[in-house]
Amino acid sequence: MKITLLGTGAALADPDRCQSSILLTLDNGRHYLFDCGEGATRQMVRADINPADVGWVFLSHLHYDHICGLPFFVLSSWVFNRTGAPQVFGPRGTRSYVEHLFEKGAFKVDILARSQYKLRKSNPEAILPEVTEVKPGLIYQDADIKVYADWVEHIPREICECFGVRVEAEGKVIAFSGDTAPCEAMVELARDADLLIHECTFPEAFIEHRRKSNVGTFAHTSPTELGKLATRAGAKSLCATHFGHFDSLSPVIKRAAGAHLPVDEMGPHQMDIVAADIRKHYRGPLRLAHDLMRIDL
Ligand SMILES: [Zn+2]
Ligand SMILES: [Zn+2]
Repeated sequence: MKITLLGTGAALADPDRCQSSILLTLDNGRHYLFDCGEGATRQMVRADINPADVGWVFLSHLHYDHICGLPFFVLSSWVFNRTGAPQVFGPRGTRSYVEHLFEKGAFKVDILARSQYKLRKSNPEAILPEVTEVKPGLIYQDADIKVYADWVEHIPREICECFGVRVEAEGKVIAFSGDTAPCEAMVELARDADLLIHECTFPEAFIEHRRKSNVGTFAHTSPTELGKLATRAGAKSLCATHFGHFDSLSPVIKRAAGAHLPVDEMGPHQMDIVAADIRKHYRGPLRLAHDLMRIDL
């Protein structure tokens, strides 16, 4: 199988990182998308993957950096002649989100206009995603893959459930955290995984800055905590992702982030600090994700 890190950034418009999105491609050619932040569809095309061939989408939670690419993905794969309805899995609230987008929602006019073309009348199901709101446990399976999900600790659950996943396919295990603080559910999802793809949003010093400056924040995992978690889970390899712009040199991002990040410390050198902190507790193969990174398993 092949894993393509389509987007490895977080909530801000980062010139160097698209938002969270991971594509899993099995040897049988089927593609499974995990999160669909801004830029996901264009990144698929850059990776030589037709979005119309991506049939399954799993949304970890409803923060916009994980879902705002969904309408563009669905609409552009309609225009790329998708056949069949996209299958979308996500937390409670996913159905409402999807229902507000297409024929009865935000893109009603576009769909009405574009449907005048003969070709667009041939695949109306492509813009009618079939939504499954999931519960912890086995959330999807076919002959070649099983996807398990469990609650992780990120947004208060009464506002939005947040899921991590464990994927079993081709005799391998891949776990993906979504966004979360370190939690037991993620340790279990990642148990003996061949690859753990885990969020690592801020370095330790940035977390401390946010704590001291009293910035409201949702729970994330620090590099030191991630190293501990990966070792406890027995993960055979680790890929850290969902980087919160701390490596950016963009003046726009620095100005925008001035209230909540220590902007003088931002820059690519932070990646060395992140790696060293993960390494305090984890000695297996380590990758720090970048957009379009490809991992073969
Ligand atoms: Zn996020
Ligand atoms: Zn989030």
